[in-house]
Amino acid sequence: MHDFVIVGGGVQGTYLSHALSTGMGISDLVVIDPFEQPLAVWRQHTRACGMRYLRSPSSHNLDLDFHSLRNWAAQHGWDHQQAYVPPYARPQLELFDAHAAAVIHNNNLRRWRRRGTVGRIVLHDDCVDVSFARQRVRARYALLALGRSTELCYPAWSRLTDLHRDVIDHVFSPSFHPQKLSCAQRPVIIGAGASAIQLALATSAQSGRPVTVISQYPIRVRRFDSDPCFIGPRCARDFLAQSDYTVRRAMIETARAPGSIPEDVAQQLAAQRSQKAIRVLEDRVQSAAISGGRLRLKLAGGDSIESDRVVVATGFNPGVPGGRLVAELAARYALPRAEDGFPLPDSFLRWHPRLFVSGTLAELELGPFAPNIIGAIAAAKRLAAFLLEQSDPRPRAWQPLPRLLHQTGSSVAMRA
Ligand SMILES: Cc1cc2nc3c(=O)[nH]c(=O)nc-3n(C[C@H](O)[C@H](O)[C@H](O)COP(=O)(O)OP(=O)(O)OC[C@H]3O[C@@H](n4cnc5c(N)ncnc54)[C@H](O)[C@@H]3O)c2cc1C
Repeated sequence: MHDFVIVGGGVQGTYLSHALSTGMGISDLVVIDPFEQPLAVWRQHTRACGMRYLRSPSSHNLDLDFHSLRNWAAQHGWDHQQAYVPPYARPQLELFDAHAAAVIHNNNLRRWRRRGTVGRIVLHDDCVDVSFARQRVRARYALLALGRSTELCYPAWSRLTDLHRDVIDHVFSPSFHPQKLSCAQRPVIIGAGASAIQLALATSAQSGRPVTVISQYPIRVRRFDSDPCFIGPRCARDFLAQSDYTVRRAMIETARAPGSIPEDVAQQLAAQRSQKAIRVLEDRVQSAAISGGRLRLKLAGGDSIESDRVVVATGFNPGVPGGRLVAELAARYALPRAEDGFPLPDSFLRWHPRLFVSGTLAELELGPFAPNIIGAIAAAKRLAAFLLEQSDPRPRAWQPLPRLLHQTGSSVAMRA
């Protein structure tokens, strides 16, 4: 029997496999993911939208030490000026990925991976059975680290199947490649969040042709995608003190800034707009019709736009991630859920005595940052506390993970 099986080997699953094996002495792990390479979805999404710098600081990286990325970059000769955006040293995507690859290689994290999509999890009193690709593994505990990648949000007007196939893509669809948009004569992007605007900047730089961005909302500039106050005790205490989960949900919504862009991207956009390389229409697409391979978008304001390639950058569906797997688990074992259907895990992130959750599935316990890299770090602390048999991990939630591990010895015993 394995100690842990992690379902999903993206940013969260890979980080948590590192934290459990390297930081907590767990020696028998399995990470199940459909992709051979760790972080496959992260790489696809960040490249698809032409992201150049992360939105999070360099301290949020895939290693267990907050300083790891910066030290590694200095040792490997990365030019400091190019490698980071101030004020919080947000790293270049290339640097983040190179460091992540080194962490994965140096800690041999690939050895835990098995390829497949988990279709069923059976929870027993003393173990779990996880089925994937005609195989079954048994472990003491399972951890769901599923992400949201399969739940793309399409505007209603774009869902007509015949339009979809030829002219409309979602920026995060596996079939989308930025080259498709760069080759278009009249590229149009729907949305005004970081993925839409970064894609517009990349497309205009590559194609030299004007790019049209259509957004229902004015451009919103925010440094981070959620209020970082919740990472520390100042906001986290209030969040955790709240026992009404509809209030917690409201706190998460208020703290988040979906569809916003950081300052440096806003500056680049302003420069491109002044040169007429990008135009932003604040309007709503009402309907779409196709003729002669071109799409005509009718806007609520009365205008019409013609395009040979439209990319919607409208993010992910907001519901509970994990599709049938999570819905079935919740129903079969009557697992606790909030009114909005999201899991209510305990303070160790256990949704069931044998099942942990991380990422978006853990946001009602961790807070607005749960889906991000720092969310994986926060989840690791709760797991460490569980393995150390702490009575309540919350008061220590904002201590750095290495300190938490150091205080109690670098290796924690596996609980039966
Ligand atoms: C464009 C973009 C930029 C971002 N930038 C930042 C940033 O700068 N800083 C930051 O902190 N966060 C950022 N984020 C948010 C977040 O860190 C990423 O979305 C990250 O990829 C989330 O990690 P994850 O492991 O939860 O999901 P994913 O990376 O999507 O990984 C989940 C994995 O689970 C697999 N899976 C799903 N279901 C199953 C199943 N049933 N069986 C087996 N495997 C399964 C999926 O195939 C996938 O490989 C960004 C997100 C996007 C989209």
